[in-house]
Amino acid sequence: MAMGSRGYKNNQYCNLDIIKKIANLRLKKANLLGYSTHAELVLTDRMAENPDKVNKFLKKLVSAAKPVAIKETQDIKNLAKSEDKLSDIQYWDWSYYSEKLKKKKYDFNEEDLRPFFNLEYVKKGIFLLSEWLWGLTFKKNKKIQVYHSEVEPYEVYDADGSFLGVLYLDFFPREGKNDGAWMTNFREQEVCCGKDIRPHVSLVFNFNRPTESKPSLLTFSELTTFLHEFGHALHGLMSDVKYVSLSGTNVYRDFVELPSQIIENWAYEKEFLDTFARHYITGETIPDHIIEKIVAIRKFNSGYHTMRQAGFSFIDMAWHTIKTPIDEHPKEFEKKAKSVISLLPEPENILISPSFSHIFAGGYSAGYYGYKWAEVLDADAYKVFKENGIFDHKTANSFRENILSKGGAEHPMRLYKKFRGKEPSIKSMLIRDGLFIK
Ligand SMILES: [Zn+2]
Repeated sequence: MAMGSRGYKNNQYCNLDIIKKIANLRLKKANLLGYSTHAELVLTDRMAENPDKVNKFLKKLVSAAKPVAIKETQDIKNLAKSEDKLSDIQYWDWSYYSEKLKKKKYDFNEEDLRPFFNLEYVKKGIFLLSEWLWGLTFKKNKKIQVYHSEVEPYEVYDADGSFLGVLYLDFFPREGKNDGAWMTNFREQEVCCGKDIRPHVSLVFNFNRPTESKPSLLTFSELTTFLHEFGHALHGLMSDVKYVSLSGTNVYRDFVELPSQIIENWAYEKEFLDTFARHYITGETIPDHIIEKIVAIRKFNSGYHTMRQAGFSFIDMAWHTIKTPIDEHPKEFEKKAKSVISLLPEPENILISPSFSHIFAGGYSAGYYGYKWAEVLDADAYKVFKENGIFDHKTANSFRENILSKGGAEHPMRLYKKFRGKEPSIKSMLIRDGLFIK
């Protein structure tokens, strides 16, 4: 309740008037620039192009996810009833019972996989993946200057032996370092005075340090994080454009997660995992039944999670498609915006908008849909690899030629269609999430 009412209490931190003011000023700015809404202004520089397309996309998502989400909610309710005689569950009960149900259904603990993901092997596995797909090689060069002794610098070479760029890997936490994981550039690719300037790309993580008796061991989600950021690095390293402002990851925001998210898909492939994942003591590969569980868990409660993401997106779009200044109370406004996604009783003193920092404090206004949009792209694009083979050169090279190398030099939809032969379809993501019903 405390979390859900941030910025929505009757005190000096109440954000209700501030968010109304922000939305109204954004409308005013859009109008001055000749657009009827803020969303329309923002989306001119997005793959989705306009609010209508975004809303249609969200409605499609909801109509696929809703029946599944209703069933998932019922399963959680049944569990709460049988275990604790709870007659009806609330939002704050969800995580607790959903974890219980997950344990019951799959008996899986993320820690079980850690012994198989020795960071040194994972790194080699990921390097090898890019060697199989594109013929890249990574050569450690300790002469390259680094900002901290733990940073590992690699020269990256293309299949024909030409130099692609420098990759820095900064794996472990230390004092003064930010949490999380990200990709960043020290220099981006561009052609300057007829010379191809190659990029310097860095990947930063906060994995567990090795100890005297144990190597650094990753969880499965840390493995996918590594793959994700590596995808961003490939986008930077393979860039082949003229202008620095359009190079590498300088693309429309709802397109930038395609290269990163698509690479995550390999984490679910036994063929890939078997190439590097070895128990650090016994040396055995991951048992088949555990890999099957990882794939199955990906679908667990995906209806509910899709509805939740769609709900945030609807609220975001509602605030940014107003055509006249908003006068209504945000509670009423938000209620209407997300009415189609409600699965559990809505508590009176909880509201998302006043603490929705993505859209009011960050840069995601009229952009929250982008999370799901990118999933549609990565699932739809990965389907080509699934059909032609997950290590298929031709597919990999087409992905490189049409997407990874082009940065923002062409409209993303045009690039995507060149790779895929058609516009992205939502179907592959729905199948992957277990939401596709014939
Ligand atoms: Zn990312």
